[in-house]
Amino acid sequence: MNWIDELTSTLGDSIHCDEACLLAHAGDKWFASHLPDAVLLASTTEQISEAMRIASKYNVPVTARGAGVGYVGGCVPSRGGLVISLAPMTRIIELNPADGIARVEAGCLTADIQDAAAELGWFYPPDPASRKESSIGGNIATNAGGPRCLKYGVTRNYVLGLTVVLADGRIVRCGGRTHKNKQGFDLVGLFCGSEGMLGIITEATLRIIPTPPARAAIQAFFPDFALAAKAVQDILQAGHLPAAMEITDAFTLEAARKHLGADAMPAGMQGHIIVEIDGQERAIKEELPSIMSILQSCGSINAMSATEPEDIERIWQLRREFSASLRATGLTKLNEDIVIPRSALVELVDFCSQLQQTHDIPIACFGHSGDGNIHSNIMIPLDAKGNERRAEAEALVHELFAWVLARGGSITGEHGIGIAKAPWFEGAIGSNAFELHQQIKSALDPLGILNPDKMGL
Ligand SMILES: Cc1cc2nc3c(=O)[nH]c(=O)nc-3n(C[C@H](O)[C@H](O)[C@H](O)COP(=O)(O)OP(=O)(O)OC[C@H]3O[C@@H](n4cnc5c(N)ncnc54)[C@H](O)[C@@H]3O)c2cc1C
Repeated sequence: MNWIDELTSTLGDSIHCDEACLLAHAGDKWFASHLPDAVLLASTTEQISEAMRIASKYNVPVTARGAGVGYVGGCVPSRGGLVISLAPMTRIIELNPADGIARVEAGCLTADIQDAAAELGWFYPPDPASRKESSIGGNIATNAGGPRCLKYGVTRNYVLGLTVVLADGRIVRCGGRTHKNKQGFDLVGLFCGSEGMLGIITEATLRIIPTPPARAAIQAFFPDFALAAKAVQDILQAGHLPAAMEITDAFTLEAARKHLGADAMPAGMQGHIIVEIDGQERAIKEELPSIMSILQSCGSINAMSATEPEDIERIWQLRREFSASLRATGLTKLNEDIVIPRSALVELVDFCSQLQQTHDIPIACFGHSGDGNIHSNIMIPLDAKGNERRAEAEALVHELFAWVLARGGSITGEHGIGIAKAPWFEGAIGSNAFELHQQIKSALDPLGILNPDKMGL
């Protein structure tokens, strides 16, 4: 019997080998893809455990897949084999405000968990922009983040317990449902951000917190990017900890003005920030004028604030239009989610405009200024023959990463390493830390069957 026969005879019609299904599980939002040989549309932890037992018996590569909207080729089954899709496992098992927890299956969409908690007046803060499409298992495996992480932290900060199937099929439960837990090594932390290479997450217990009763948002334009970056520092220095603080550069604003029309914003702006605060209504009323006056003292233009949900949404809608406007330029957008120490924001944007001049390839920077996590979008132009100048764009990325690392930063703050960033991984973390990754990987997955080729491990 071969492995597919054994899987099919054990797991029946949960195993799929038809072309359409294989094709649908070949890639994510990065450009690489590879067909698996079989797909398990999983509905229980026990099924996944059986599948892993068989895969390890036959030494078959296995790739875990959530919603497949990753940005680094993380769920690409680069050596074929079996894809285990968690997409059917969407149950919210328990929502318990008294304990401040939500227990969910790994295939749940993040936004569904947030909506279900919100109905009870509770809040699951991590907010990747993909939250309506991405699974909580994928968020945990990539330790996803978003704008609100400035105040609330990343996915890891909300994972209390996990059920994980190991490479040999053993089921491990780590952490639990308490908000503090110091029993042994931080195994929950080990699996957060492990990109499907150490185990398959099937269930998670998440921390939920009370929803802040009031919110407000402010946006402002600046004639100089350095003034916008100064406003970010001044707001924090004055003792405010906004939920989110987003910054945008001149290239993006110009693209947005072209796409949305001249009424959307004044001409010639070099920077834009959005600040969102939340908390008790009285606190918001006090903080709002104080932040507005900091913005004004930094030379902001057209600063405006909003406290009603629909007006706040309008401000964030403009932020979402920035991405759409970049896409509307017709150039291919290579989104690099680098992180630099917050004090280096202006240096980063200056370095990007230097790169832009040297390579004649535009770079659009915007993102989470409070965390120094700036999405640097390399806008790949076409050459005279109409082909994408991808090789040159990659050379540019190489220089950008080298600069980021020399400046004490990180080549990814949100998306992970996957295949896309594997060539830079060892250089980024150093050979001893890389060796430690190899040792941890081989302790948990001695045959190397779980998501091979990712991180260059
Ligand atoms: C438009 C858009 C906006 C985005 N915005 C953000 C953002 O703001 N912040 C951010 O952090 N990311 C963002 N991303 C990237 C992406 O959405 C996240 O990486 C997300 O966490 C991926 O979830 P997924 O369910 O699609 O995972 P997949 O793409 O299916 O998988 C991602 C990785 O996780 C592993 N994995 C998935 N499920 C499991 C599991 N149950 N057990 C073990 N391993 C598993 C896979 O093997 C793979 O390595 C964005 C992507 C898009 C397309």
